[in-house]
Amino acid sequence: MRIFKYILVLIFICYNLFAFEVKFGDTLFGILKSYMSPKDILDISKELKKLDFELKAGQKYEIKNDKIVFHDGIARDIIVDLDTKVVKEVRYSINKLVTVVSGEIEDSLFGAVVKTGEDEILAVRLAEIFEWEIDFFKDIRKGDEFYVVVEKLFCKGKFIGYGKILGADFVNKGRHIRALYYENKYTKGYFTPEGESLKKGFLKAPLKFGRITSTFKYRRLHPVLKVYRPHYGVDYAAPIGTPIHATADGRVVAKSYSKSNGYYVKIKHNNGYYTYYLHMSKFKKGLKVGSYVRQGDVIGYVGMTGYASGPHVDYRIKKNGRWINPLHFKSPSKKLSKNMIADFLAKTNYVASLLDSSYYKFAKLFITR
Ligand SMILES: [Zn+2]
Repeated sequence: MRIFKYILVLIFICYNLFAFEVKFGDTLFGILKSYMSPKDILDISKELKKLDFELKAGQKYEIKNDKIVFHDGIARDIIVDLDTKVVKEVRYSINKLVTVVSGEIEDSLFGAVVKTGEDEILAVRLAEIFEWEIDFFKDIRKGDEFYVVVEKLFCKGKFIGYGKILGADFVNKGRHIRALYYENKYTKGYFTPEGESLKKGFLKAPLKFGRITSTFKYRRLHPVLKVYRPHYGVDYAAPIGTPIHATADGRVVAKSYSKSNGYYVKIKHNNGYYTYYLHMSKFKKGLKVGSYVRQGDVIGYVGMTGYASGPHVDYRIKKNGRWINPLHFKSPSKKLSKNMIADFLAKTNYVASLLDSSYYKFAKLFITR
């Protein structure tokens, strides 16, 4: 048993003796010069050029049995035979496996996804699909469930990452939301089975992480001024420097400072909407009044400038001159056109049926619907 352990360690050491990494400034000449003549190196470099292979810092390579093997990404090896000076390319296929991942939430989506044995990046991507429907700050409950149909990519038998999420169900406080991936020449994204885009005009919140510390109220004891005042926004507390995202496409109409708001940004959107982001520590570099921003773009960073008792962003929405409660705000969404619906249903049918069959717990609810 013991000898076995030593052999393992030995194999490990040997392996590392032959494994190298291309360092910044390394050249093909430098790597090959002790094995062959400059003329041979020149010939080999021409061969490598034909294969569209370039030496890059960080690339791994091995020297074994009179061969140098350059690992070019995960799916290609370039092998240089030091004896015969022959250059060979070996490609490995990437295999896609469509899998259903499901879990139940204990305290966070991250935790629940990791518990299934999957990478936490899957939680991020899942949250991105539903971020218009579910406020991951306040809506998530213990017992919420998710079912994800996702492509898992394998190369040389090893998991190397996720492909597309083809569809997902999220059961939030008993409410069932389904997202199906669909693309055609004109559109792509996630849609409900009715063909409505899950991507709404506005994100639910301007931060990816944080917690709500104050909500929209017509009368609130101001934490700094100690007087009753209306609070026309939602406060999201987060560490200073946390990026603040524009919740919808629009044009920056104010990037300014005031005694109460501190550093703030105001964005004008379509259909009479304005959004406000107050108390920033600083603006995003290059942001100007008149800049056009896309939904999700970083516009500034959390701070506590102005009247603020701690670092947070006060997020506000105004429509046609009236403040709207961001937490009750129903954002408009797009629907697939009638002539796309048949194609959409046909192409998503397989994923929808996969989700249906995994949806055992709520099967009854599903059939009677
Ligand atoms: Zn506030």
